[in-house]
Amino acid sequence: SRVLRIGLIPGDGIGKEVIPAGRRILEALPASLGLKFEFVDLKAGFETFEQTGAALPDKTVEVLKTECDGALFGAVSSPTTPRAGYSSPIVGLRKKLDLYANVRPVKSVGSKNPIDMVIVRENTEDLYVKEEKTYEGPNGKVAEAIKRISERASTRIATMAGEIALRRQKIRESGAPSIHKGPLVTITHKSNVLSQTDGLFRQASKAALAAEKFKSVAVEEQIVDSMVYKLFRQPEAYDVIVAPNLYGDILSDGAAALVGSLGLVPSANVGDGFAMGEPCHGSAPDIMGQNIANPIATLRSAAVMLEFLNEEKAAAMIYAAVDANLEEGKLLSPDLGGKATTEEVVADILKRL
Ligand code: NAD
Ligand code: MN
Repeated sequence: SRVLRIGLIPGDGIGKEVIPAGRRILEALPASLGLKFEFVDLKAGFETFEQTGAALPDKTVEVLKTECDGALFGAVSSPTTPRAGYSSPIVGLRKKLDLYANVRPVKSVGSKNPIDMVIVRENTEDLYVKEEKTYEGPNGKVAEAIKRISERASTRIATMAGEIALRRQKIRESGAPSIHKGPLVTITHKSNVLSQTDGLFRQASKAALAAEKFKSVAVEEQIVDSMVYKLFRQPEAYDVIVAPNLYGDILSDGAAALVGSLGLVPSANVGDGFAMGEPCHGSAPDIMGQNIANPIATLRSAAVMLEFLNEEKAAAMIYAAVDANLEEGKLLSPDLGGKATTEEVVADILKRL
């Protein structure tokens, strides 16, 4: 049997309530899958910063790099006023582990508006290189930022989007019900205005998706603003979306709004041979400690992580158990209009596994 070593990084707030749920669902997978898990508890976040002076201790990075196959990351609180020495652990982890893709599946269950898409966001460059400067111009203060797009990063993210589209198609062909007829990748850009940066993203993405192995994948492109319009009017039209960092960030929060609660939407940060599941929500200080956080985003994040560790069968079982809970709609957390506690939702989903 295969042993997967998973780093658990609860972080702050409800991260501490939902990450244990992620651990439990992995432990509850049937033995017939031939999978065993070992867990390592790791620290990061604002509380860690207050205790140790580092929001992302070197040890956390080192253990993930040298010992782990994957990780589950909860959420971290950021200081409300800037604090010297604090920088976001999640951004640091993406950089230090070269987790170059942020993959966010957005799916509705049992609603009138069918949504089933995956947003594949480039995670390492674009405006997020954070090379900014402010200077005194002839008419007052001016601030500038670098938007960096490389052919290499664009090619590898578009290739990943194509691979995800093929994998989704394979799952459909195995009989899973789907609103999509065939694999489709939509390339997001604004190259009508940013002809060089977004122009390169567009051209490199198209070239990557023109590869022989993607010949069954339909490829479309769309300017980001009209994409937002269509995303809200006709979300069922999207299968896999590939986008540069900033557009992907914005599109994916918008898409999350379409399915009703942040507590439902998972993600994974993916690099070569490593995947870190991460619910899309934050540390939710307004509901922490009350045992009412929705654990589903984290359970689904564990599934996304497993997909990228090539354990698709295990992932499919988690997705199905979660969908069954939502379809029945009897044990739902308060963000979905229910009365169930975190504990009760987890127990119901484990029962269905
Ligand atoms: P948030 O996602 O924590 O909360 C937004 C709203 O959604 C809140 O009302 C919250 O109660 C609700 N919510 C979120 N997750 C939920 C869940 N699982 N179940 C039920 N309800 C849920 O965003 P925020 O309030 O803007 O930020 C709170 C803190 O989290 C801040 O310090 C912020 O910087 C941080 N944050 C961290 C991450 C991350 O770690 N990736 C992401 C976003 C925000
Ligand atoms: Mn964001």
